[in-house]
Amino acid sequence: MEAECKSVHDPFYCRHQRGNCSGHFMSMKPAMIGAKAERRVLFPGPIVVGAGPSGLAVAACLKDKGIPSLILERSNCIASLWQLRTYDRLRLHLPKRFCELPLLPFPSWFPTYPTKQQFVAYLEAYVRQFDIQPVFNASVVAAEYDAAAGFWRVRTVSSGGGSEKERTEYVCRWVVVATGENAEAVLPEIAGLEEFKGPVVHTSLYRRGDVYRNKRVLVVGCGNSGMEVSLDLCNHNAHPSMVVRDSVSHPWLCSLSSLCHQNPIHVRFPLSRNHITTESSS
Ligand SMILES: Cc1cc2nc3c(=O)[nH]c(=O)nc-3n(C[C@H](O)[C@H](O)[C@H](O)COP(=O)(O)OP(=O)(O)OC[C@H]3O[C@@H](n4cnc5c(N)ncnc54)[C@H](O)[C@@H]3O)c2cc1C
Repeated sequence: MEAECKSVHDPFYCRHQRGNCSGHFMSMKPAMIGAKAERRVLFPGPIVVGAGPSGLAVAACLKDKGIPSLILERSNCIASLWQLRTYDRLRLHLPKRFCELPLLPFPSWFPTYPTKQQFVAYLEAYVRQFDIQPVFNASVVAAEYDAAAGFWRVRTVSSGGGSEKERTEYVCRWVVVATGENAEAVLPEIAGLEEFKGPVVHTSLYRRGDVYRNKRVLVVGCGNSGMEVSLDLCNHNAHPSMVVRDSVSHPWLCSLSSLCHQNPIHVRFPLSRNHITTESSS
């Protein structure tokens, strides 16, 4: 599932899957191909798509070498994944030494696992330090390499609230795609889901467990987010169960269980031997 989710929005992966390998062409929204751009901007350096940590790091490193770049970001802020699509209790899942961006260390007083607010503050400082000024509300819908001219044509549609959609074509020699592996919510098809009458929420829309107090909640998947959301639900006196497609090691689950003091978590693995139900105890 993780590999599928990481690849599903990768245009190069999609092209490969379709067996279409001709030319340097990437389409994020085929319906827009051929749409007449109303504005054309020639940019002398690389265009970077996405103002997440990767795009910001690329822009900073280029700037450090004296190369101008321009970031196009469909959202209205930097690090939109962290600012707009993560739950409140989130901290970095990895120790900070693995997560800092090039050329600017985390403040020494940051904890080993900074909160998302600290991480976002660090990224805001990063943007200031390197004077990075992304173009916000610019959703890249296609990028096409014009081999004859030796230029990329990168098309954007304004993604702000206005009804008039502004279209722009950026012409440049280099394109860096930094659109992230978690930038899109992926909801797998689950048979019978449409018959379920309760709310179905992707983790990118989950904020905190208080709205689930005393409710029974099924968490699908036990990656980092599934684990942490389950813990958050427990801490808010909800009753989560977790369903897992593949087997996972028991020590890992025991760690989660030991954290859930208030309520048990029920975990189901669709193992071939038999179905195991694990309950944490306080
Ligand atoms: C809950 C959670 C916890 C995590 N914890 C960690 C951690 O501890 N350490 C770690 O290293 N990683 C962690 N990650 C992984 C996360 O992917 C990275 O932290 C980081 O956000 C990746 O940066 P990125 O710039 O590659 O992608 P993103 O942060 O996803 O940024 C991509 C940007 O591209 C923009 N974009 C996408 N498509 C377009 C388009 N067509 N046009 C214009 N803009 C576009 C998006 O709006 C977004 O702003 C975590 C992820 C999640 C969900």
